[in-house]
This record gives sequence, C-alpha cells and structure tokens, in this order.
Amino acid sequence: MSTLLVRNIHTLVTMNAVREEIKGAAMLVRDGVIEEVGRGADLPTTAEEVLDLKGRHLVMPGLVNTHHHFYQTLTRAIPAAQNADLFGWLKSLYPIWARLTAEGVRASAQMCAAELILSGCTTASDHLYIFPNDATLDDEIRAVQDIGLRFHASRGSMSVGASQGGLPPDSVVENESEILRDSQRLIDEWHDNRRYSMTRMTLAPCSPFSVSPALMRESAALARSYAGVRLHTHLAESKSDVDYSVATFGMTPGRYAESVGWLGPDVWHAHCVWLDDSGIAAFARTATGVAHCPCSNMRLASGFAPVRKLRQAGVPVGLGTDGAASNDATNLFRETRQAFLSARVRDLDAAAMTAHAALEIATLGGARVLGRDDIGCLAPGMAADFICIDLDRPELAGACHDPVAALVLCDVGSVNYSFINGRRLVDQGQLTTAELPRLVETVNRLAAHMVQA
Ligand code: ZN
Repeated sequence: MSTLLVRNIHTLVTMNAVREEIKGAAMLVRDGVIEEVGRGADLPTTAEEVLDLKGRHLVMPGLVNTHHHFYQTLTRAIPAAQNADLFGWLKSLYPIWARLTAEGVRASAQMCAAELILSGCTTASDHLYIFPNDATLDDEIRAVQDIGLRFHASRGSMSVGASQGGLPPDSVVENESEILRDSQRLIDEWHDNRRYSMTRMTLAPCSPFSVSPALMRESAALARSYAGVRLHTHLAESKSDVDYSVATFGMTPGRYAESVGWLGPDVWHAHCVWLDDSGIAAFARTATGVAHCPCSNMRLASGFAPVRKLRQAGVPVGLGTDGAASNDATNLFRETRQAFLSARVRDLDAAAMTAHAALEIATLGGARVLGRDDIGCLAPGMAADFICIDLDRPELAGACHDPVAALVLCDVGSVNYSFINGRRLVDQGQLTTAELPRLVETVNRLAAHMVQA
C-alpha cells in the first residue's frame, strides 16, 4: 500500500460530471487510484509521499492522445515532404520508412513518449503500420512501458500495394493472413482489459487506399472476439482520399466504413475532415469516435474537420497530434490550442469552440474515444493520471483572471509535474524515466541513417 497527497493546489480542474473547479484543493491517492478530492481543509494532512504545490499550481487530468505514429519522429522535416499534400507526402516517405528497424522503433517510441508526457499527455494511442526489417510492435510496447506512459498500441497494417491499385509500394505491404496471425499473437501477448490497465491493444488496418475490404472485415471480427480490443484507422482525411473511395469502392468514406463493419462504440477513425452529413449521422447513431488532428490537417492542407458539427451530433471526439512527420511536433497542449483556434477559423465564428471545450476534448473526449471510464477526470475511483502547471510561469503572467482558460489561450507547452498511475513521471519539469540528451542523440543518429542510406 502506498499513499500520495497533493496539497495546496491553487485550482483543481476535476472534469467531473458538473465540471467542478476547486480552489485551495488537495487530492489523496492510494496505490495509483484517487481516493479523495476536495478542499484542503477536508483532507488528511500527510501521506507516505507528499507534493506541496504551495498554492501556485493548477492541477488537471492528464491529456489523452488518440492518434500518432511514433516511428515518424525519425522523418521529421524531410525537405522533399515539406510541401506535399497527403498522397504526395506519403509517396515520398514510404521508401524512407522501408528502412525502419527495431532500434528505430524503440528510440522513436521513447522519444515520443517523453515528449508527450512533458507536454501533458498521460495516455496515448499509437498506430504502427509498417514492419520492415526486424521492426515489431513488441519493441514499441516495451519501449513505452520503460518510459511509463499509459499506452494503447495499435497493430497497423498495409496489404494493398501499388500493383494492386493501392498507394504504397509493394515492398512495404504484408500478406493478410500473416497480419491477422500476428495481430492475434500481439493481443494474446499484451492486451490487458482490466481497470487501470497500462497496455491495451487495437487492430488498425492503415487506410482505404492501403488495405482490402476483406482485411477490414476480418480485423473487426478478430478484435470483437476479445473484450476491449478496439478498432482504429484513417478515414476521409483529404479530398484525394474521398475520391479514392468513390472510384475504388463506389462509396463515400462513411458508407465504406459501414459496409465493412467499421462503425460502433469500439471504433474510432482518425481525421474525418471530409466526413459528409450522412457519415456524421451514422457515426452519432453508432457512437463511433473521431481522432481530431488539426495540426496535421493544416500541415498537409487537408482541411478543417467539422468538429462542432460532430460534437453537436453526439459523436465522441478526442484529440490527436498525428505522426511526427506531418505535424511535426508532438505536443498535446499546443495541439489543444490549435483545435481551439482552427475550429474558430473553420466556421468564421469566435464561439465555435471555447477554451474549456478544447480541454474537455483533450481529456474526457480522448478517454471516451479510447473506451476508458477510468481516466480523463479527477474523482474518487479514477486512475491517478494528473498534471500540474505552475501559474507563475512567464507565459501565464497577467492571466490570473481565468487560469483554466489561460491554459489554452496562452501558449502552455509543458507541465511542471506529471503523475501516471500515481507514479511521478515529471518532477519540476524534468522527466524521471529517461535521459533526454542521450535519447535525442540516438534518434538523430538513426534518423540520419534512414534518410542517407
Ligand atoms: Zn495518421
């Protein structure tokens, strides 16, 4: 048994059912689970571990990232891919990604997990869909476990190469029966569906233009034969993506997803920039989720996802940074700010998204999209995944009128403390589980090798 007391909290943002914000708060954690939340005077004054925030910090639930490709950290800012749209960008990067190795998977996963945690994320989903050389998803899962991030690993796949009408070159696609065999092996090896689980599995054929309808159907059947294994893919990301679906399947992306059994409360799709009204209605009816990735959608000139419409219809929406080759940042606090800003530009309406709504999407929204009822809010019985932001930092100077909205309105890109499962992962702004300079050096060495080879 271990206890942790966080005391003298300036403002505690609970994200509970009534969105309570408590001034002068404290929080008691036992064995990684929140036991009590309330005014400091009403809570115990000591515990085995005590963090005294001296009345200067805001505490809130950790942010949840619902879409990423960690391996792409090795191919950030590639000159040939800087000014291309989705299909051109992919075609220029596939040959470079074909040089990915197990060492590259491990180093990029640790780098991304570190960046995510330092920028407020406590749970992340990652989508690895290319397995050349000796690369495996096992390498990624072990690497993330070493850093301590709560993790939803997606076994991605590509099976339709250019010779069969797909976008990727034949050299990077896999055989479909091998994909399904490895998917089952990974679920049996890693999937933990218990409450407070640190590792869960998702099956994630990559996109309509890189896998067959048969693989979509069979992946769904396999995932649904287990409790808590979810389904994830890319959908309606760009106009070319929609054109491909119409030309190849004779259907819009929304209808295609429905035709292969990819609607339901256990499914979430990345992007959905061009999901039409009937697609939005189908998502709402079936509680199918969306990972909203505003930076990537702007970077690749894909467009602005209809976030207000999706949320008003009742579609679960979470936030995603997307891969580090199309963002090219891995900073979930800054992504929250971009979601807030881009929603307003999209609708030419300053009321299109409030700062509080952006924080809700980044926490509770992500938890719902990942099918979790044990994270995203700070209340008794929830996992102790929380972040602390020093309100005396320069970028928040003068924002004392509304420190919660200021987290989005001002440019807060980092946290001072982060706890995941009750474990201190960031202490006074420093990650406790990795040596960053050594990690950066390894990532740079591997990135240079991949591009120069
Ligand atoms: Zn993506």
